[in-house]
Amino acid sequence: MSTMATPDTHRLLAATPAEHPPRLTLEQLLGLVEDAGLTGRGGAGFPTAIKVRSVAEGRRRPVLVGNAMEGEPLSKKDAVLLTRVPHLVVEGLAVVGRAIGARRLVLAIGPDVHPAAAEEAARGRGVEVARLDGGFVAGQESALVNQLGGRPAVPSDPLVRVTTRGLDGRPTLVLNAETLAQVALLARHGADWFRRVGTEEDPGTSLFSISGAVAHPGVVEAGRGTPLSRVLAPAEPDAPVAVLVGGYHGAWVPGWALDTPLTGSALKEYGATVGAGVLHVLGPNTCPIRVAADIAAYLAGESAQQCGPCLNGLPRMAEGLRRLARRAPDPGLPAEIDRMRLLVTGRGACAHPDGTARMVASTMRVFAPHVDRHLAGHCGLEGHR
Ligand code: SF4
Repeated sequence: MSTMATPDTHRLLAATPAEHPPRLTLEQLLGLVEDAGLTGRGGAGFPTAIKVRSVAEGRRRPVLVGNAMEGEPLSKKDAVLLTRVPHLVVEGLAVVGRAIGARRLVLAIGPDVHPAAAEEAARGRGVEVARLDGGFVAGQESALVNQLGGRPAVPSDPLVRVTTRGLDGRPTLVLNAETLAQVALLARHGADWFRRVGTEEDPGTSLFSISGAVAHPGVVEAGRGTPLSRVLAPAEPDAPVAVLVGGYHGAWVPGWALDTPLTGSALKEYGATVGAGVLHVLGPNTCPIRVAADIAAYLAGESAQQCGPCLNGLPRMAEGLRRLARRAPDPGLPAEIDRMRLLVTGRGACAHPDGTARMVASTMRVFAPHVDRHLAGHCGLEGHR
């Protein structure tokens, strides 16, 4: 996997190991991440200070888990981080672990992340490296904690938070690998340095995994809020018709809107979020309905099969899209797909049905002309079987 930098940023990917990693108290760490406005880089974008505080105030010593599961098939950033700069992730674990008084430090890595460099970086630093089974929902916090505890890698009851009762029955803080790497740099350089890149609303840099119709797929580091076209430029996209922002649970930004800054507020118009920084480019010769149908089928197959929306709704929504992609002459298909989308939204024990519904809704909205052409039996683009 290649890596690239936009002209303004190469912070994470160029970092060398620190001779003397900083040692922060809890108050210092909280002040730093709060001043920097650091948010989680795993997808949800939750403020890191709130997550840290949620385990630090309990009576029992917590467990800290670094999440490098990379369950999203289009994401490659954890693999790049743990190959290029594993020391930064381990340093982040050490900084946060010390500040919160963690009893255990665990780095959980998925099957697509090469473990050797991470194991080498962790040696002698008090960090356990756990190589786990993968899957789309395996990186969800409670699923991850379950697998680490020897149980099936499926999400648990959302009312019992891992920050209250997680690994070993202790409060457990799960931070994404990139978030930990950002904390390591933040501890070295301070909040002012961190905020020098990005926007007031959304400071710092992020790693973006770029795939699809591009000459150079890979991982690029860019300031938050950089326009989509500029983040994509090093990968040399081929006449993008649209970009799936946020991965399989994301939403499409049309090709005519590539000057959209990658911030939460700007992307809201398209129903997208920066998420885990996944950008998939749709080229001019690929059928978007077929792409969405394949993703929906994959997601329906990846559910933990324990809640109604995943057992019944996702397969039916995926089947509707598959029939549409095959140009079934059924004018009721869009309404049926929409009915399924509404039925699954907000009904799962985790965000999997909602994320799948978001991608499907965006497909039907952004590619409405393609939907009409399919219903009329026409589609001259690639990918039909
Ligand atoms: S919503 Fe789906 S993926 Fe999430 S816990 Fe329920 S069955 Fe599993």
